[in-house]
Formats: sequence, C-alpha cells, structure tokens
Amino acid sequence: MSKVLAAVRTGPSRIEIREFAMPEIAEDAALMRMEVAGICGTDVKLYKTPPSAAPVIMGHENIGVIAKAGREFTRRKGFKEGDLVFVEHYVMCGKCEWCHAGQYRHCENTDWRKNPDAIRYGYTSAERAPHLWGGFAQYVYLPWNAVVHRVPAGVTPFGT
Ligand SMILES: [Zn+2]
Ligand SMILES: [Zn+2]
Repeated sequence: MSKVLAAVRTGPSRIEIREFAMPEIAEDAALMRMEVAGICGTDVKLYKTPPSAAPVIMGHENIGVIAKAGREFTRRKGFKEGDLVFVEHYVMCGKCEWCHAGQYRHCENTDWRKNPDAIRYGYTSAERAPHLWGGFAQYVYLPWNAVVHRVPAGVTPFGT
C-alpha cells in the first residue's frame, strides 16, 4: 500500500507503468482511489503529440472513492472517506477575480499551456510533487482547491 502505480505518458504514443510513493495527506487535502477515468478526443491528440516532454499521468475525467481525507478537507467540502466523487480537471487558485466570479475554468492556475505552475488533472507533469495529477493511476491527489462533486446515489462509477 505504500506505492501507487500509474500509467505515465513518456513520449509520443508511449506509456510506461511507474511507481510513485503514496503521498502524505495534508489536513486540507484528500486522496481518491480511482474507479474510472474517461478518455476523450483531447487525450487521443495529446497522446500522439504531447505538448511537452514532461512525463504526464493522463486522465482528466475522473471518478473515484475518497480513500483518505484530512479533517479540514472534510469540514470545508463535506466529503469523507468512502464517498464516490467526480473531480473536475481544473484546480483553481480560489483567489483571483475569475475564481471569485465562479469562473474557475478561466483561472490562471488551471492554464497548463501558459502557466508552468498550473495544475490540471491529466496535463500537469508527474514530476511535480505529490505527482498524482492524473486519472490513469491507482490514486489521485486532491488538494484543498480541487473541484469535487458527489456522484448521486444510485449511479455507479460506470454510469449504469
Ligand atoms: Zn476531455
Ligand atoms: Zn483563480
């Protein structure tokens, strides 16, 4: 349980299984055990033609179960261990004008093309700690600013 396996895009049309350390979870963060990751047209394109040489755990449409949750994460967001959730790929800053207007999809913190510090699931480099920024992995790291939604009761991760 101390290691996490992930499929890492290492070059054009190339994927390698790599091991990452199971991350420590901050009080305001959580860890999601992956159930299902979608593959969309963007993935097909970026798999063939990666936008950078950085190793990336792809997978930006992610559903999983909260495996570990810090106390602050649960207090602020209402999610606790065992909850089935969908996580948006945008990880907002929560501080800028766009975020305050609820338009976090425009937040600079999610702009992986222009901002080297941006975090977006499926796009951010796996070299950046704590590394688990994509759904093609056993676990995904959820910082305090991840955008998390509850999967409605009666809906399975696979939608049936
Ligand atoms: Zn997509
Ligand atoms: Zn922002």
